Amino acid sequence: MKKTYLLTPGPTPVPETISSIFARPLIHHRTPGFQKLFEEVRAGLKYVFQTKQEVLTLLCSGTGGMDAAVSNLFSPGDEIISINGGKFGARWAKIASAYGIICHEIKVAPGASVEASEVSDFVAKHPSAKAICFQASETSTGSCMPTEEIVEVARRANLLSVCDAITACGVFDLPMDEWGIDVMITGSQKAMMIPPGLAFIALSDRAWKANETAKAPRFYFDLAREKKSQLKNQTAWTPGTSLIQGLHEALKMIQEEGLQNVFKRHERLAQATRAAVQALGLEILATKRPSSAVTSVKVPSQIADGKLIPRTMRDSYGVTIAGGQDELEGKIFRLSHFGYCGIFDITTGISCLEMTLHDLGYPVQFGKGVGAALASYKKTS
Ligand SMILES: *Cc1c(COP(=O)(O)O)cnc(C)c1O
Repeated sequence: MKKTYLLTPGPTPVPETISSIFARPLIHHRTPGFQKLFEEVRAGLKYVFQTKQEVLTLLCSGTGGMDAAVSNLFSPGDEIISINGGKFGARWAKIASAYGIICHEIKVAPGASVEASEVSDFVAKHPSAKAICFQASETSTGSCMPTEEIVEVARRANLLSVCDAITACGVFDLPMDEWGIDVMITGSQKAMMIPPGLAFIALSDRAWKANETAKAPRFYFDLAREKKSQLKNQTAWTPGTSLIQGLHEALKMIQEEGLQNVFKRHERLAQATRAAVQALGLEILATKRPSSAVTSVKVPSQIADGKLIPRTMRDSYGVTIAGGQDELEGKIFRLSHFGYCGIFDITTGISCLEMTLHDLGYPVQFGKGVGAALASYKKTS
């Protein structure tokens, strides 16, 4: 027997009280019982998004939410701007191109962040653009983009701001209405603490206005049609009933803890993780605006094949973390610290990392990283 631990930035662990819900007999969705449940889910989602707008629940992974944003806001031939700071930032241009929409990319080095001045200079060079699409937290590098500033640049230029908040919403403060974010998207398997399968998307009044004239083809992800149904506590198509039952419980947990306390917990866990890896002599990739969702750590030069770190952690010790993707493959590994996560998930991950580094020939004083994590956690209490 090997006990296993899931410490990846999606899917994140599911609380035991929620996973037991998935074993219940199925409910039917065209019933008063489902409608009551969904009404409470709608209210809970507005709380997490910090918005008065309707937060639509879609049956798809997070990318479906990004796809829906593009196809519901723009028309073929339209131009948009995207901020490409990694694997997820690169996705905007791929989605846009599928709909015949032209995407101008601001390229950001892996682990770096973008400055508002860079964005506004770029906007000035692309006067026909209709929106700025970006990631609040670029999960592939562990770097945040300055959402409030980007939204401000967009608003001043009369562009829509489209925010992939998939490892940001419910992780750190991202008040949609207060900051004027036009579109915000997240997915179920991240801070919502339930399995993959749902995406959530909310649109501002300005974004709904753009939707009225947007001509990109769409059928399943027709947000206006969804909104009409969801306002009546129904969905246009068969909803993910079991996932929504789990979500109902997850939202209750988030509301009981309080959103600000959730953010504080994530920040403390992120700080503890960063302290631990630094105590082990390792370097963090994203130093400028590190995400409180995930910490990317550079593979030390003593370890030739960086892919061995996550592989050894998983295969020898049962701890699943994430490696680097695309151009960062083998160069970094990523420790997640959000969702259903506490300090002992951090110390589990770090102690496993210590053993793994030792196995791979990197000098480690056992307990050094764990000790630093605990000390940081206590200091930030
Ligand atoms: C996880 C994630 C997505 C969505 O990925 P799916 O596999 O479609 O759920 C998109 N953007 C970011 C920043 C993510 O972390």
